[in-house]
Amino acid sequence: MWGIFFFTPSNAPKKIAVFDTTLRDGEQTPGISFTLQQKQEIARQLSEIGVRTIEAGFPASSGAEEETVRSIAEMGLSADVCGLARMLKSDVDVCIDCNVSMVHVFIPTSDVQRIHTIRKSREEVLHALEEVIAYTRDHMEKVMFSAMDATRTDWDYLLQVYEAAVNAGATVINVPDTVGVMTPSAMRQLASRISDRIRVPIDVHCHNDFGLAVANTLAAVEGGASQVQVTVNGLGERAGNADLSQTVMSLESIYGISTGITTQKLVETSRLVSRYAGFTLPPTQPIVGDNAFSHESGIHSHGVIACSQTFEPGIMTPEMVGHRRRIKIGKHTGRHAVRQLLADVHMHPTEAQLDEIVEKIKFIAGKGKKLTDADLYEIAESVIGGNGGKRVFKLQDITVITGNHTIPTASIRALVDDKEHIHSSVGSGPVDAAMKAILAVLPAPIVLKEFRIEAISGGSDAIGHVTIAVEDPSGRIFDASAAGDDIVLASVEAMLRAVNLLHRR
Ligand code: MN
Repeated sequence: MWGIFFFTPSNAPKKIAVFDTTLRDGEQTPGISFTLQQKQEIARQLSEIGVRTIEAGFPASSGAEEETVRSIAEMGLSADVCGLARMLKSDVDVCIDCNVSMVHVFIPTSDVQRIHTIRKSREEVLHALEEVIAYTRDHMEKVMFSAMDATRTDWDYLLQVYEAAVNAGATVINVPDTVGVMTPSAMRQLASRISDRIRVPIDVHCHNDFGLAVANTLAAVEGGASQVQVTVNGLGERAGNADLSQTVMSLESIYGISTGITTQKLVETSRLVSRYAGFTLPPTQPIVGDNAFSHESGIHSHGVIACSQTFEPGIMTPEMVGHRRRIKIGKHTGRHAVRQLLADVHMHPTEAQLDEIVEKIKFIAGKGKKLTDADLYEIAESVIGGNGGKRVFKLQDITVITGNHTIPTASIRALVDDKEHIHSSVGSGPVDAAMKAILAVLPAPIVLKEFRIEAISGGSDAIGHVTIAVEDPSGRIFDASAAGDDIVLASVEAMLRAVNLLHRR
């Protein structure tokens, strides 16, 4: 390691438990709604990667929500399954009926929420929480208490509230920054004041209104919090919650604190939730975004090829989070990266040829075109010559049918290494069926890693631009693109270009 230091404040616990609320606060993201089956799959994934507690929902909010929470509680996951309840015995009863292993009760404590939402005095809030927490604890071993809007609550009163909750039987207390107004230094101070007075574990729930959710969560840990509430991809109300990957990797890699999370599955988890949420992450998203470990500029690519720590954190590698390092070509590409990418597929241009290839790349990219691996090899072939164009996979014909009473089906006839294959596949749509048919006849197992389709022009006759990335068994990723007014055929063409790059290894 080069000049890496770990900063672990003396107050910070050595182990942090991860509490995930993707299925509760995350689903409250405007425009997002998961099906029951999707929620079960997300819960299974979260449990498998080592999340300690999964907040499955708010059972008293509807019959459907109650069913969902019950079904997740009865999946037999190793994670604890938690249900949310207002400070009402009737809400708690619904949670108990769902067989959850933890109930999370909350009540507003800030003056603004107390006066305008529940219209209770400070004393009435104390009485209500004492009564309901004691009742919950009679039926449940694990009870978490949240003082909603804690960070905007008078701190002296807040400490009184937490003491009352613990005396009534709360086993964990949560400090929610409900509207995301804290700063890291204030959060660290608040958490340490609470941990000086309270003997149960402290949990923290931060919102990202000012982009500080992860920073505030880490600051709470510095102050003594031992459980962090997160969501996958930072989903949640308004600007969302603290992101699971960012929080976990900061704790693990920067602070050197163990979270019990199998970090190698963070990218996979993020993609699962993105797909179900219909929510595309920006490429610059930390840890899990497409560009998190991608390099294009000449200086950076050259550095990373020589030693990855030159322009990456080093204490966090792509392998640690289930990502891949990628050298991308574009307007800022340099000679070293191009030489390396071509050497990987046994193409060895002379110095003069390399100059010409780089010049062509910059010319094309300078006009705003995104370049794929397929484009790079075609440009290199046009300069060097050679037989790189030999296609392992030759499509002879493809027929795709779809309709409102038809399962989308694709039938193909293709030559693979000069041997004829005939195959049919069904899919969720015509493009999916066609992709599956092509992948089914390939000799080695190829995984589709990325599929993006953009409409270039408006109207129903818009040109569709398809970009595909495939991964071979050794983990190497190749991408290719194609455009056309028939999106099924454009997808097929992009897929053929991508799979025909695989034999270059
Ligand atoms: Mn929240």
